[in-house]
This record gives sequence, structure tokens and C-alpha cells, in this order.
Amino acid sequence: MANVTVVGAQWGDEGKGKIVDWLSERAEVVVRFQGGHNAGHTLVVGENVYKLSLLPSGIVRGTLSVIGNGVVLDPWHLRDEIAKLRGQGVTITPDNLHIAETCPLILPFHRDLDGLREDASGAGKIGTTRRGIGPAYEDKVGRRAIRVCDLAHLDALGPQIERLCAHHDALRAGFGEPPIDRERLLADLREIADVVLPYAKPVWVSLNDAKQAGKRILFEGAQGILLDVDHGTYPFVTSSNTIAGTAANGSGLGPSGAGFVLGIAKAYTTRVGSGPFPTEQDNEIGERLGTRGHEFGTVTGRKRRCGWFDSVLVRQAAAVSGISGIALTKLDVLDGFDEIRICVGYRIGDRDYDYLPPHASDQAAVEPIYETIEGWSQSTAGARSWAELPAAAIKYIRRVEELIRCPVALVSTSPERDDTILVRDPFAD
Ligand code: IMP
Repeated sequence: MANVTVVGAQWGDEGKGKIVDWLSERAEVVVRFQGGHNAGHTLVVGENVYKLSLLPSGIVRGTLSVIGNGVVLDPWHLRDEIAKLRGQGVTITPDNLHIAETCPLILPFHRDLDGLREDASGAGKIGTTRRGIGPAYEDKVGRRAIRVCDLAHLDALGPQIERLCAHHDALRAGFGEPPIDRERLLADLREIADVVLPYAKPVWVSLNDAKQAGKRILFEGAQGILLDVDHGTYPFVTSSNTIAGTAANGSGLGPSGAGFVLGIAKAYTTRVGSGPFPTEQDNEIGERLGTRGHEFGTVTGRKRRCGWFDSVLVRQAAAVSGISGIALTKLDVLDGFDEIRICVGYRIGDRDYDYLPPHASDQAAVEPIYETIEGWSQSTAGARSWAELPAAAIKYIRRVEELIRCPVALVSTSPERDDTILVRDPFAD
């Protein structure tokens, strides 16, 4: 079986959209397995630019697209994203979009709570996308969530809504907010149920059938491993597990289905939101990386923080996520630097670390240890073979591979899907 699981190997925004789109041409099923509409995946197909947050990227090409149980689903956002894509000529039907019946719903008060908490946190805020992702996952593990399958049983939902609202009313009272209007909520759910239910399926069946039939399945991770709630820079993380292992439990296909794990990493580093970022360049270098790399968030439009490549973090990400190969993206953004730096370790006082220590205060205190590499003046933009790359750029890639202890399988040199150097075909494994 030749499946591929794509995960971000940094803090998200690594350019997964392009790589997933490139792979989805050959995939027969594309699956989202965690996160929600906090993701922002930009696909450039010919003249058209598609911006997806919730729908799997395969939908743009008409490939069977599955939203797994590990995703938290905002049904109103789903309606709007489907309408937007249909407006761009994309066909979306219950035949090509399957949504797990067990997906927990993101409800309007989840979004409110996300924003209220952020506003109340001052300098300690996480910098979330304010889309209600965290509060929805909390209700899932708190066994209070309303799920897609509940939309087919609205008449019996009263006690469940009461329990959920009682929990939230207490939280809202703490922020001086009024209680939730239960009748309004039920009426809204009744209205949106007709939009969602046609797509609701036992997706574990579709996926296991696809596996039995030997179909190629592409798992599309969102965010990045350093935002993983267990393995990331806690508490400045998202509320889901973003590592490749989640493809199994967030879809219902089981661990043997993950196949080749392709980690996507930029040739430098970016982060949106708060939290430690050892190689951040809050200076001219960061400005230059941000301008050349167009580093503004797809979802929130926020300016991304930029810095040098951190091999310690990507090595750690590759280890905890079982990455088989890396797709190195945005190499062209480094064109024209006289010197390029790579972080190869950390120091706090007189202690050196070859991993990111777990405590937030240590993570904030680490000093990066850099290695300086010669830059290149030629353009790498649009290169499609090693022969088109300057020797110094090849040297940079080889050094990255050595430091992260993981081979580079692909190099991406522009947002265009074909501007890609293929070293090893993930679907061929
Ligand atoms: P949340 O996922 O909205 O709760 O946000 C938690 C953290 O994850 C914040 O730092 C966000 O900026 C970050 N985050 C969430 N989704 C993405 C993404 O798709 N790309 C990059 N960062 C993200």
C-alpha cells in the first residue's frame, strides 16, 4: 500500500498546500484528520488560487475528500467554504466529500469563549486563530460535545444541549456574558443540519474500503508538529495532536495506513501567534525573509514572525512524528543572502542542549548556537532539477539533511506546483 501522510515539521505554514495539491493529483482519497478551520492551505492551480481552511485539498481536483473524526467542524464555516469554492467552479457533492459522523461541532459560543479568553490574557495570550478550536476540543474530551451524528437526532438533543450550555454558562458568567439561548441554538442547529447531513458518513468504512481496494490515500495534516498539544511548545500550541500518528485515530484507518510520512519544512522558520521562537530575527533579516516569503497568515492575515532554519526543532519534529522524508519549501526566499545561518544547538547558561527543553521558561531562555553557511547570489526560483541549483544551495540542503537526520525527498522552489525537485517519490514507497 502506498499511502502518504503529510505533516508540517515546524509551526505550520510550511507550504503544505502546494505539496498536498501536487501529491493529490495521484491520490485517490485525501483525508483531513485533525484541527479545523484554523488551517489555511493555499493552492495555486494554473491561473486560479484556492484558499482552503477546512476542506481537504483534494476537493479542488474532484478527488474523494474525507473529513475525519479527529477534525472539529464548524458547520456554518463548512457551508460558507463550500459556497465559496463552488463559486470558483469546484464541484462538491456527497459523492466526493465525506464527513465523519463523529466529528465534534464547533458552536458559536466556542468561538466567543476563544476570543474572550484571548482578550483577557493580555501578554500571556496564546495568539489563537479565535475560531473556537480549543474550546471545541475541550468539550470533546469533556464528553459534552455535540457531534455531526447528533444533527440527525435533534428532537432528542434537549438534555445534551442543557448539559453543554450549563457548563458554558458558568464560564461565560465569569466573563460577564449572558447565558446561551438554548432555543436559538437548537433552531440554528436545525437549519444547518440539512447542509451537513448529506455528507455525513461512517468514514472509517470508506477508508477501510479504499485500503482494501489498494487505493492511494493521502492524509493531509494541518498546523505543524511544534504546535502539537503533546510535543509542541506547550502551552503555545493548538489543541490537537498534529503529529503523523494522529492520521490513524483521527480517521479510523489504523496505524498501518499512514504510509510514507512526508514532513514539510521551510528552508527558514516562521511562527504566527505567541510563544518561544529561538531563531527569530526581529530585525532586517526577519523583515527580508517575511517580505520575500510573503509571510502573512492565510486565515487571520497576521504578519508571521521569521527567523533562520532551526535544525534542532526539525530533528525533534522528525523523530516524534516518524518522518520518512522532508519536503523543503521556499528555498528561493534564501536567494541573495551572503551568509545563511542554521541553528545547530541551544545553550542556557553553561549547559548545551541538542533538543528543546520542555519547560516554557527554558524554551524562552535558550540561546541558539549557529553554524554559518555560504549563501548564493543566483536565483533558485522555479528550479526543477538539481542541475538548476547553485552549488552553495545544494550544500545548504545537504547540511540540513545531515543535521535533521532525515533525507530531503522534495525541494519546492516557487508556489507553482511544477516548480519542484523530486528526489524520492513518496507514493512509490
Ligand atoms: P488555535 O489552533 O486557533 O487554538 O491557535 C493556537 C496556536 O496555533 C496559535 O499560535 C495559532 O497561531 C497557531 N495556529 C493554528 N492554526 C495554525 C495554522 O494553520 N498555521 C499556523 N499556525 C496555526
